[in-house]
Amino acid sequence: MTDLVLSDVTRRYGSVNAIDHINITVGAGEFLTLLGPSGCGKSTTLAAIAGLDQPTGGRISFGDRTLFDGGSRVSLPPEARGFGVVFQSYALWPHMTVERNVDLSLRLRKVDASERDRRVGEALELVGLTAYAKRYPGELSGGQQQRVALARAVVFRPALLLLDEPLSNLDAQLRGEARIWLKNIQRELGLTAIYVTHDQEEALSMSDRIVVMRGGHVIQMGTPQEIYERPIHPFSASFIGSANLISGGLIAAVSADGATVGLPGGQTLQGHAPLPVRQGEAALVAVRPQNIRLTEDADANRLLVRFGPANYLGDRFEQEAFLGESPLRLQAARPVPEGEGSIWIARQDVLIFPPDEGAKDKT
Ligand code: ADP
Repeated sequence: MTDLVLSDVTRRYGSVNAIDHINITVGAGEFLTLLGPSGCGKSTTLAAIAGLDQPTGGRISFGDRTLFDGGSRVSLPPEARGFGVVFQSYALWPHMTVERNVDLSLRLRKVDASERDRRVGEALELVGLTAYAKRYPGELSGGQQQRVALARAVVFRPALLLLDEPLSNLDAQLRGEARIWLKNIQRELGLTAIYVTHDQEEALSMSDRIVVMRGGHVIQMGTPQEIYERPIHPFSASFIGSANLISGGLIAAVSADGATVGLPGGQTLQGHAPLPVRQGEAALVAVRPQNIRLTEDADANRLLVRFGPANYLGDRFEQEAFLGESPLRLQAARPVPEGEGSIWIARQDVLIFPPDEGAKDKT
């Protein structure tokens, strides 16, 4: 098994750490996604792996090869690493046909002409562009150009495929389709892939594991289900699944499986606490919109709220319920009349965290 290992990788620009002591291991055949808001350090991490940028410190190894070592000043150039890279901008040569663009990857690696023909044919078939081999990039749609970029990155059978927001120039429908074929190709070829995106749906649907990043730090690492169902940080809960965050509460009591929070205004909420919390300390509560119920449930917390106007979304309504001044977004099959009312939230759907110290440093 060849693992890519990043140990304490840091990239400093002046006084800013674009990435700060990042530790990530990627297993053979794994599809790993770096997910986070713009500016959180995803592209910097990918560029450090590709060799397109040099970290300020740390170590990157791939199997028994050291790609970068800040201590001994080792840094292999990108061509010696031999990874396939696909960017958001397709970066195709406009004066070369589709097949020449793909072939160039093999020419640069001095592969024989007959072998090149065979592999270019295979790669174009893989991405469904055999019929477009003789066209120029300007004669293709955005989605087709992105397929050429992928064919070019996989044609030389890279040990690692690096993808930086490869689908973000496509419109919503094409992006949905592209997610599926891209994932199928990665699986079919057994490639190890590292994928950068700020799109939670892309990350959840394609990844074996997700690394949630913020402000140059890794916030949480896990399978899509772990990240979605068991966030260990309020940022994971709010960025993936858009949880409502309620601040201003204090931990009123701590029990074996959770805690009770006293909210501003005097109401209380019981819930699960993924991290240690202590009585009397400040609390940040996370609740996903779809977990807010409008019918009475004996096992749930009941909160008195004031409902705002509802917005129609086609298959459901979105509405705000105000807890004092704090709005909680909820989703409902039918709109609730504006004004005073109640909501119910099951205890297991209430996540209680300590305050988010890094929240100011959001990017
Ligand atoms: P992401 O890919 O998550 O959007 P980046 O890795 O591009 O984020 O950037 C991380 C941080 O590093 C940002 O704050 C960005 O402004 C900073 N940064 C990136 N490249 C440079 C650069 N060449 N010079 C100065 N700051 C940079």
